[in-house]
Amino acid sequence: MVKICCIGAGYVGGPTMAVIALKCPAVEVVVVDISVARINAWNSDQLPIYEPGLDDVGEEPLFSTDVEKHVFEADIIFVSVNTPTKTSGLGAGKAADLTYWESAARMIADVSKSDKIVVEKSTVPVKTAEAIEKILTHNSKGVNYQILSNPEFLAEGTAIQDLFNPDRVLIGGRETPEGQKAVQVLKAVYAQWVPEDRIITSNLWSAELTKLTANAFLADRISSVNSLTALCEATGADVTEVAYSVGMDSRISPKFLNASVGFGGSCFQKDILNLVYICECNGLPEVAEYWKHVIRINDNQKSRFVNRVVASMFNTVSGKKIAVLGFSFKKDTGDTRETPAIDVCKGLLADKASISIYDPQVTEDQIQRDLAMNKFDWDHPIHLQPTSPATVKQVSVTWDAYEATKGAHGICILTEWDEFKGLDYQKIYDNMQKPAFLFDGRNVVDTEKLRAIGFIVHSIGKPLDP
Ligand code: NAD
Repeated sequence: MVKICCIGAGYVGGPTMAVIALKCPAVEVVVVDISVARINAWNSDQLPIYEPGLDDVGEEPLFSTDVEKHVFEADIIFVSVNTPTKTSGLGAGKAADLTYWESAARMIADVSKSDKIVVEKSTVPVKTAEAIEKILTHNSKGVNYQILSNPEFLAEGTAIQDLFNPDRVLIGGRETPEGQKAVQVLKAVYAQWVPEDRIITSNLWSAELTKLTANAFLADRISSVNSLTALCEATGADVTEVAYSVGMDSRISPKFLNASVGFGGSCFQKDILNLVYICECNGLPEVAEYWKHVIRINDNQKSRFVNRVVASMFNTVSGKKIAVLGFSFKKDTGDTRETPAIDVCKGLLADKASISIYDPQVTEDQIQRDLAMNKFDWDHPIHLQPTSPATVKQVSVTWDAYEATKGAHGICILTEWDEFKGLDYQKIYDNMQKPAFLFDGRNVVDTEKLRAIGFIVHSIGKPLDP
């Protein structure tokens, strides 16, 4: 029986292996991680990630902390460890931090006694396979390693759907007979459920660069549409109408053209920064500059949103309660890595607002960590306007949108959770301070209906008075 071991039980490793275990009953699938807490969570009823459909996949791989045992026994090793941006040293703030990858590779070399196919599942800089090959072959003890690049294109929130029905599966390998044999072995795994014409093979470097490029293109589309929102607001054009009509051109397509408060998530910014770094290292500053601008537009979109809130609320939110609806970086995930909500909340707090946050999947601990607030600031009581004896905490987290908005001067919608469309806005309006402001950072509410109730609604890329 072929044995697959995946190193890294995160947002990618867990769901990907659950689907492989389901679709390949003849393969033994194990997911290992150095984090005991994460493995315990996978083995409990409280999964470590929220992903629609994950509970229903049925077949479960084995989740274990016995990393070395399972790597030793495996024929195919997927490496799906985190590859964050380096925070210090050479390339700090741009280059990928490959320390997790390197330590996984050294451990594989240490414990392996039989030939292995090592699959890059993490997103890595182009040419990483060459570095991994060096680490493995220089420590090989007679073991033969074939490195494949098999980047993951799933999106959080739709991961299970994406894994069951991928647009494509990409496998890059060395052009040697051994490399191509390894490509065929991995292809046979995916062929259990993915149609053959959706399994693409390429050389290793193309596969590695494809993943960075795909994320850069996706983020670029968001920044492209977001770059037009201020112009729409100033001129009376409606960004939703513009995006719809532009997207009707089949060369452009309507997908991924939603204007918003900005993109987030653990991948887009990190992968673009990585691309920028690789361009700079290859003497291509103009290309690097092009991709840097995608991030600048995104940063500008977040600060523009905060400025609009403050300016509209009579130039200050000091002592005002702002309800923040949604904290995750997009709907259907509890992931808050790089969420625009962090920058928006920090901007509001800098102007001394009191913020009350509600997100259906994000915990108070996550928010406290993300806002990097010390206990004093977090619990610091402030007086709300109009001056009243009552004080509130500077930041509070509620488990209900109605609680979050009670007594608020304004609402910021920062995640497009479906439930925000169906709230009883009349009830919310009745319990708010007047005038009641609503800033829709995702264009989810029915603007006309809310204006009829009495709200002053500011939507991204839409005129204030249509
Ligand atoms: P994650 O942080 O959720 O999971 C990574 C896991 O690897 C962690 O649980 C960590 O403990 C574990 N780990 C690190 N070093 C280890 C080691 N030496 N041995 C065993 N376990 C180790 O990360 P993720 O979101 O699953 O992303 C993983 C990779 O996939 C990244 O390169 C990311 O860019 C890429 N990716 C992510 C997504 C996404 O939507 N999250 C999509 C496509 C690709």
